Amino acid sequence: MVVRMRRNTSQTAKRRSHHAISAVRTSKCECGASRASHRACPECGRYRGRIVIDIVARKQRDERRNKRRQTELRESGQATESAKEEKATSSS
Ligand SMILES: [Zn+2]
Repeated sequence: MVVRMRRNTSQTAKRRSHHAISAVRTSKCECGASRASHRACPECGRYRGRIVIDIVARKQRDERRNKRRQTELRESGQATESAKEEKATSSS
């Protein structure tokens, strides 16, 4: 970089003074769950009264994926924390 373009620490700090991350704003969904505003509800899959996510299909897909991942891990001989938790929850 050319010396003429070089920024000192004060200039860098002034630029970065606007880089702070604000907290995620939450609003209440019509189903009662709290969700991030301008995002579809993860509980019922609705956004502004319209269904935009097929929750049932997504859940089935995730379960299938998790099951396959667990079997793959077991075959490779690695026991995971989530697998232990799953066993604990299934036994109770
Ligand atoms: Zn909802």
